[in-house]
Amino acid sequence: MNLAERDQHIIWHPYTQMKTAALPVPIVRGEGALLFSEDGKTYIDAVASWWVNLHGHAHPYIAEKVAEQLRTLEHVIFAGFTHEPAVTFAERLLQILPAGQSRIFYSDNGSTAVEVAIKMAIQYWNNLDTPKKKIIAFRDSYHGDTFGAMSVSARSAFTAPFWPFLFEVEFIDVPTAGKEEESIKQLEKLAAQGDIAAFIYEPLVLGTGGMIMYKPEVLDKLMAICQQHGILNIADEVMTGFGRTGRTFATDYLQQKPDMVCLSKGLTGGTMALGATSCNEKIYEAFLHDDRSKTLFHGHSYTANPVACAAGLASLDLLLQPETQESINHIAQRHAAFAASIKDLPQVLEVRQQGTILAIEFYDGATSYFSDLRDTLYSFGLDNGVILRPLGNIIYVIPPYCITDAQLDQVYQTLKGMQEIV
Ligand code: PLP
Repeated sequence: MNLAERDQHIIWHPYTQMKTAALPVPIVRGEGALLFSEDGKTYIDAVASWWVNLHGHAHPYIAEKVAEQLRTLEHVIFAGFTHEPAVTFAERLLQILPAGQSRIFYSDNGSTAVEVAIKMAIQYWNNLDTPKKKIIAFRDSYHGDTFGAMSVSARSAFTAPFWPFLFEVEFIDVPTAGKEEESIKQLEKLAAQGDIAAFIYEPLVLGTGGMIMYKPEVLDKLMAICQQHGILNIADEVMTGFGRTGRTFATDYLQQKPDMVCLSKGLTGGTMALGATSCNEKIYEAFLHDDRSKTLFHGHSYTANPVACAAGLASLDLLLQPETQESINHIAQRHAAFAASIKDLPQVLEVRQQGTILAIEFYDGATSYFSDLRDTLYSFGLDNGVILRPLGNIIYVIPPYCITDAQLDQVYQTLKGMQEIV
């Protein structure tokens, strides 16, 4: 049996209908933007392996730092103990995070980073003895797969079996072009109720919801309304963080500053599972109390894993090199030029771009994640040596920043080919 067949007998894959899915592609090695399979094929990782990879696969600098840390201290309980990688990484994150963020709480992934932010927000109001239980979110948002994160995410097919178990959330429309005023009105009405704990949002780009993009000016307005009403602003930068939108954080395009920021994915450059939730001093201070019941009772066995923090530090070193920002700008320019070249093609409904994120919405009348078109486009990508994971009729590119011009050409060529088969 080869690797894929052995896998098929015992593994249950994420987001995969195991009855009908094709055999998984067995990857044996990665280098730069490329992945190499057991049967000798080469793939361009145009989705940065679920949007995590920033600097390329098996990056020698990150590998070296990770190996060094593994030989020094692989893990230690983070309650009552601390270590250099966790502290240094927190210090360095706070240097680049939006102004006002002052504390870092580590967890394991994007969902837990969101889960922690929700718990901080709810307990913040409890600790002040003015309980507020409602959260506002965008109707098409995706914040993760744990129960709190699902609750603040779209009521979609992803979460349908669990709806009875999700807490109630007030949803507002995403303020895309033409819908800004409606979205603002909806938020103003809810804010006036006085019982809203927090507003959680994916800044500028809603990822899994379909790479839906909206302008920073309107988010500034929504955040300002929240601030006026004492509603906490939670920026979910799990996807948008670490250069994806062209700047280090999507929040860097805004005037308003969030109370909390959720981070994961690019946090370690795609090397190790790690999440982080940052908050400002106002939030943190609400948990300082002689009454021990006001403690944030949250933690994970692997909280602040030293190896993951070392990977994060190494990735940050690379991210902050001027060459990386040049690569980000270059990808953004190439995306923009390609977008302009295809926007008028007959099968293209809309092309959206923000920094290194490019999305094409194909017109097929069926927008379902489960549409046959999705599977056809996915297979077409693989057949052309490019990993692309369509969201229904929306196909997107979020490449590692080290992707070469020739590789980008191959990705664009594949996308062009797709428009001919829809
Ligand atoms: N938040 C956003 C904006 C995301 O895009 C995702 C994942 O796609 C998550 C949270 C959840 O992250 P994870 O898959 O690491 O749990």
